[in-house]
Amino acid sequence: IDVIKVLMHNGIMASINQRIDYETAALVAHEFGFEPREQRPPEAVEEEGPSLLWQRLYAGEDPSKLKPRPPVVVVLGHVDHGKTTLLDAIRRTNVAAQEVGQITQRIGAYQVEYNGRKITFLDTPGHEAFTQMRARGAQVTDIAVLVVAADDGVMPQTREALAHARAARLPIIVALNKIDKPTANIERVMSQLAELGLVPQEYGGDTIVVKVSAKQRIGIEDLLEAILLVAETREIKANPDRPAVGTVIDARVDRRGPVATLLVQNGTLKQGDIIVAGATYGRVRAMFDDRGRPLKKAPPSTPVEVLGLSDVPEAGDLFEVAESERQARELAERRAAERQRQRQVRRMSLEDLYRRMQAGKVREFNVIIKTDVQGSIEPIAGLLQRLVERHAKDQLQLNILHADAGEISVSDVTLAAASDAIIIGFNVPVDAAAKRLAESEGVDIRVYSVIYHIEEDLEKALKGMLAPTI
Ligand code: GDP
Repeated sequence: IDVIKVLMHNGIMASINQRIDYETAALVAHEFGFEPREQRPPEAVEEEGPSLLWQRLYAGEDPSKLKPRPPVVVVLGHVDHGKTTLLDAIRRTNVAAQEVGQITQRIGAYQVEYNGRKITFLDTPGHEAFTQMRARGAQVTDIAVLVVAADDGVMPQTREALAHARAARLPIIVALNKIDKPTANIERVMSQLAELGLVPQEYGGDTIVVKVSAKQRIGIEDLLEAILLVAETREIKANPDRPAVGTVIDARVDRRGPVATLLVQNGTLKQGDIIVAGATYGRVRAMFDDRGRPLKKAPPSTPVEVLGLSDVPEAGDLFEVAESERQARELAERRAAERQRQRQVRRMSLEDLYRRMQAGKVREFNVIIKTDVQGSIEPIAGLLQRLVERHAKDQLQLNILHADAGEISVSDVTLAAASDAIIIGFNVPVDAAAKRLAESEGVDIRVYSVIYHIEEDLEKALKGMLAPTI
């Protein structure tokens, strides 16, 4: 907490497990009277997989052209804790009373204005959609709002959602919901949050916890204010004066033909632009905002419904403006081929660890741990840490993205796929759907029943002596 306080004094809203650069760390060390010495990380990491595609988004951007843009927010949390109700309540905050009846359509994202500033919300609650997009290389969000019901407290999916938000390195704001309920126990939830490393500001921590009632629309403005506050401490910028690039949030076919909801992330999208979205392309015939109003231009962070694509793209696809119809078609074809190749990209596996480590391709060893009982988590995490320190001290950093008791679920696999992690299970079953997904996504799941075998396998993996299992 002391470290976080110093960071905050220096304008960095750090969370408990956030990575900071050397200069910042050195500054903090000095403040505590230490003399830091820099240890250089291993050689530059070559990115693999879908994130390469992503780098095009801001490629060649001149920093002087960047202007602040609205933050893009995702709402996560346990089922029934009030995500949908909260998203609706927020949406209604700045809609004139007579309009309320008209907002029936959902296009996957919407924008609200508060105190003259805009905020974009992804309108698909829950981490499944969010993580699936991340697994495809899309990075659309700037801030996560974690909804926790005050009567129910921290639940398994709360922890899961937190792991997803942390893996995406998003700043987290907690919306403590249902405070109107007589059974609400705010103190209890606050201490549960602190146990997860989300120490509320009221307890001297750095986590903003906003008490709300989505149902009675209490505290909604405080939440919006908190979002804008966090956004201010981040570099949330884009260049509006360039051709648009962004991500497909949602797509479907209706009587107007293929309809895609696009989130413009950089540049400005204009009616008449020729775009490539995933493996489809077309001219933007018409654009609509989240209330169905026609638009001619969409600046950064605007979600828009677009008509004119030749086919339906997939959520998580990147889109960009092309110079001509011909270029668009070629790009779309290339994308289709690229996609084919990407499907074959093998994700991280234990056998691969050594090879990738030697090639300088991994610096981080991301692991998800699932165990039969909570008490097994600590010894396994400790064991992994010791082994990595013993065998790959300067080469690898162990990141435990998520550790919990319970079977290995689809959510664990999507998290692993999105973060290039492996899953270690201890005396737990693997859900059938999770097994299928792991196979199609190439996620390595290892289930053990004896701790010693984990040690054996990991030791071999770190020395490059683990034989492939398949
Ligand atoms: P989700 O699964 O997280 O999207 O949760 P929902 O938004 O569907 O809400 C689940 C239930 O909790 C619904 O019956 C809501 O009416 C109720 N609910 C949501 N927010 C509140 C709140 O602030 N107070 C009360 N009393 N109930 C709420």
